[in-house]
Amino acid sequence: MFNNVTHCSEQTYTGRFAPSPTGPLHFGSLIAALASFLDARANHGQWLVRMEDIDRPRCVEGADERILECLVAHELRWDGEVRYQSEQLNDYEDVLQQLLAQKALYACECTRKQIKATGGVYQGTCRERDLPPMGNALRLKCDQPVTRFTDQLLGPITISDPHALEDTVLRRRDGLHSYNLVVVVDDIAQGVNHIVRGSDLLTTTAAHLTLYRQLGKTPPSYTHIPVAATSSGRKLSKQNHARSLDNQRALQNLQQALKFLGFSDIANHHNSISALLNAAIAAWQYNKIPKRHEIIVDGAESTYHDAPES
Ligand code: GLU
Repeated sequence: MFNNVTHCSEQTYTGRFAPSPTGPLHFGSLIAALASFLDARANHGQWLVRMEDIDRPRCVEGADERILECLVAHELRWDGEVRYQSEQLNDYEDVLQQLLAQKALYACECTRKQIKATGGVYQGTCRERDLPPMGNALRLKCDQPVTRFTDQLLGPITISDPHALEDTVLRRRDGLHSYNLVVVVDDIAQGVNHIVRGSDLLTTTAAHLTLYRQLGKTPPSYTHIPVAATSSGRKLSKQNHARSLDNQRALQNLQQALKFLGFSDIANHHNSISALLNAAIAAWQYNKIPKRHEIIVDGAESTYHDAPES
């Protein structure tokens, strides 16, 4: 009995860009920022920015400021205050308490090594053990996970990856709240009802939808756009040395990002950022965006070139 969750929204469009301040923005992150911005503006919606700084040890001092400066240089202006996850710990704990009261959570003491030794997919080993929450991970019982949803770009999606459907960790053993928890809590708190993000997050959407259902909240609509990759399966990222965006080349960066997203026709016809963005908002439509999980770009330059279909 799986739920096919589709979106229903009467409210104002609220979208967001949610970078992790682990370094400056690169071409891959510009694509997510630009696509979510254009989608929001084309729908006369709000566009929020959230700093996903929950994983403090991975965050880089000052990266948040650089990211915001970079957005400003590219004239991607957000609405309202920037929300920082590191300031919302009480919200996350409140939701965990609510889930504990619903008996939807349980403590788990299995280490990564143990899980690996039993095949790599967590089998719910600690579900009935009634372990204390302190010092253990907290997992969401996902015995009937949401596996199907309709992506606004990709169409009907069925998630079958067993990793994406296991009882997801909401608080780690070290006490850190997980991405799967905080992304849902924040999107609910900020009234986000439209999410446009990279397709590397497609499978994890199953855990998010399962959590929305458990919390009795209407999920947002999801649009998963292609990610820029340096080679097949290697997403452009700080880890694989994506070059940070040069703010002096903001117009060119945006032109390249628009080409990547399928809008080559307008990319080179405007010589100011505001004219380019206005034209892109007017031209924005999903049927131009490649329905692909990734598009190969030149990693060294972090620039887009027409790559053969992968
Ligand atoms: N913070 C995530 C990232 O930088 C994005 C999360 C999301 O869009 O849901 O990849």
